[in-house]
Amino acid sequence: MDNVHVAIRVRPLIKREDDENSQIFWQADKNSICQTANKSAKPYIFDRVFAHNESTDVVYKEIAQPIVQASMNGYDGTIFAYGQTSSGKTHTMQGDANELGIIPRAVDELFDIIDKTPEREFLFRVSYMEIYNEIINDLLNEEKQQLIIRENKQRRVYVSNLHEAFVSDADEVLDLMRKGNEHRHIGQTNMNEHSSRSHTIFKVIIESRERRDDETLDLAVNCSELNLIDLAGSERANDTKAHGQRLKEAGNINRSLFSLCNVISKLSAGAEFIPFRDSKLTRILQSALGGNAKTAVVCTVTPASLDQTESTLQFASRAKTITNKPEINEILTGEAQIQRCQKEITSLKAQLEFYQQGQQVQPTVQEQERIAKLEEEKLLQQRKIQQLESMILVSKPKGQEVSISEKRKQRRLTWCPGALKRRMMNTSLTDDFLPKRNVFQRLSDGSAEEVQSLPSSSPVGLNTLNDSKEGVSFSDEAFNNVQSSPVLKRQKGVRWADHTHVATQTSNLEELNDKEEQFQEMFTICEGLMSEKEKMEEQMKTTNVELLNLNQIISELESDKTEMSQEKENLKRVIEEAEELKLFEADEKNMWKKEEAELLARVSAMESEVASMRGEVEAAEQSKAEMEILHNMEKEKQERRVKELTSQLQLSYD
Ligand code: ADP
Ligand code: MG
Repeated sequence: MDNVHVAIRVRPLIKREDDENSQIFWQADKNSICQTANKSAKPYIFDRVFAHNESTDVVYKEIAQPIVQASMNGYDGTIFAYGQTSSGKTHTMQGDANELGIIPRAVDELFDIIDKTPEREFLFRVSYMEIYNEIINDLLNEEKQQLIIRENKQRRVYVSNLHEAFVSDADEVLDLMRKGNEHRHIGQTNMNEHSSRSHTIFKVIIESRERRDDETLDLAVNCSELNLIDLAGSERANDTKAHGQRLKEAGNINRSLFSLCNVISKLSAGAEFIPFRDSKLTRILQSALGGNAKTAVVCTVTPASLDQTESTLQFASRAKTITNKPEINEILTGEAQIQRCQKEITSLKAQLEFYQQGQQVQPTVQEQERIAKLEEEKLLQQRKIQQLESMILVSKPKGQEVSISEKRKQRRLTWCPGALKRRMMNTSLTDDFLPKRNVFQRLSDGSAEEVQSLPSSSPVGLNTLNDSKEGVSFSDEAFNNVQSSPVLKRQKGVRWADHTHVATQTSNLEELNDKEEQFQEMFTICEGLMSEKEKMEEQMKTTNVELLNLNQIISELESDKTEMSQEKENLKRVIEEAEELKLFEADEKNMWKKEEAELLARVSAMESEVASMRGEVEAAEQSKAEMEILHNMEKEKQERRVKELTSQLQLSYD
C-alpha cells in the first residue's frame, strides 16, 4: 500500500498582490504550514511544504522524480497540481522560459532513463487532452472533440479516439506540448490575466521490454502511463466577477473540482461507493486515486489568501490519507503497441517486397477476377493484333517508311474488291495495276515494244497497261515491297516469276487473268485481315476505356467504403456517447437520491438530537430553578441563623 504523496507549494507574492500591499496569512516550514496571525490555529502537516523561495527543481526532485522513475519500471504514475486560480499550478507543472516545470523535466528524465537502460527497448506515445466545460477535447488534433471515456476489458479507463503520437526525442514531446497549449482554453479572470479554464492531462504511455535479437519472441511488455495534470483553478463567482461564458466555465470547473473533493473525502473516509463517474475529471483520475497508480499532488497556494488557501489545505489533508496499491502493469499477450509495431513493420516489409515485385493488391475478389479477365482479353487482343500486324507489315527500305495506316489507305483504294471490279471496267483507273506493269517493265528490260504490241482485243487489264503506259512511274522499291510481303509469299500459286513470265510472253492471256484473280483474292484476304485488325483495335480501345472506368468505379467504391465506415464509426460513437450519458445521468440520479436520503436521515437525526437536547436544556433549567430555590432557602436560613447568632451575641455582650 502506498499513500498519495501530498506536498504544498507556497508561491511568492505576485505583482498584483504586491501592488495591493496584501497581507501575508501563511508561513511555511519544511513540512508544516500555519497561519501567521492566529498562533492558536493548528498547523497543517504534510509530506513536504515548499516555501516561496524553493525552486521547481527541488519540487521535481522530491515529489515528481520518484514517480517518473517508477513509470519507466511499469508503474502508472500521476502527478497533479491543485489550487486556486493563480496560485502557481501551471508554473509548477509547465513552467516558463525562466524556470522549467515538472512536465519538461519529466520528459527529459524519461529519455535520460532510456539512455541509461541499454538492456531494454522502449516505445513512447504521447497524448494531450483538456476537459473544458465537461467536454474532453484532443489538444493534439483539433478535429477530435467531445471525446468519450471508456473502460477496457482490464477495467482500465481510457479516452476513446484520443490521438497518441509516437515520439522519439524530448524536443518532439515538448513541441507537441507547446502546440497543444495553443489550443487550450484560457480566459481572462480577475485573479489571473490568463487563467486556464480547463483541466489538462498530458499523458505519456510507456511500453518497454527486454532487448533481444529475436524479434519473433513474444516477450512480456511493461505498459504504464505517466499522467501529468494541470487543473483549472477553483474560483468563486464573486471573486472573479464572472458572467456569461466565464460564469459557465467557473461553474463547470467548480463542479468537477467539487466532485474531486467529494471523491477524495469518500476515499479518505473509506466509503464503499466512490462517485468517480460524477465528473470526467474524477473518472479519468479513477486509477490514480483509487487504484494501482503512484500518485503525487502538489497543492499550490498563495500566502496572501486566508480562506482559499485554507480550503486548499483542507483538500490536501484529506488527499494524504488516500492509499493506493501500485502494481507493475505487465502484458504477456501480443496486445502491446511495441509488439503490434514490430509485427506491422514485418508485414509492411513483406508488402513492400510485394510491391517491388510489381504486384498490387486488388480491392476485392470479384474486382480482381474482372480485371484479370479484362487483362487476359487485352493480352489476347494484343497478341492477335501483333499477329495480324506481323502478317500485313511489309519490309520497308530505309528512308521510305510509310505508316501502316497509310499503306492500308492505299491498299483500300487499290484493292477493295467492289472498286476493283469497277476499275476493271474503267480504263481511266490505270493505277490499279501499276505494280504488275512495273514488274512487267522491269522484267521485260527494254522490251517495251513487245508490251505495246499487245493486241487491242486484249483483256481490260492489259489494255489498261497499254493505254496508260505514258506518265506511269513505278519504283523498284514499290515492286520489292509487294514481292517481299510475307502474305504474298505465303499465297499459294502466286509465283511472281511465273507471272512475269506469263506477262512477258503475252501469249497466254488467260493464265495472266488467272494470276490477276489470284492476286485480287489475296488482297481481298488482306483487306479482310485489315478490317479485322481495325475491329480488334476498336475493341481494344473499348476494353481499355472499360478498364479505366472499372478502375474509377473501384476507387469510387473504395472511397464510398471509407466514407461509410467513417459514418459507421461516427454513429457508433454517438450511440456510445448517448449510452454513456444515460449511464452518467442514471448514476447522477442515484447519487442525488442517495445523498438526499442521507441528508434526510441526517436531518431527522439532528432533529431528534435537537429535541433531546431541548429536553435536556429544559430539565437543566428546571433543576437550575429548583437549585436556585433551594439555594435561596438555604441562604435565607443562613441569614436568619446569622441574625439569631448576632442578636444572641449582642445579648451576651449586653
Ligand atoms: P495557476 O495556473 O494556478 O492559475 P500560474 O501558474 O499561472 O497560476 O501562476 C500565476 C502567476 O504566478 C504567474 O505569473 C506565475 O509566473 C507566478 N508564479 C506562480 N508560482 C510561482 C513561483 N513558485 N515562483 C515565481 N512565480 C510564480
Ligand atoms: Mg493555470
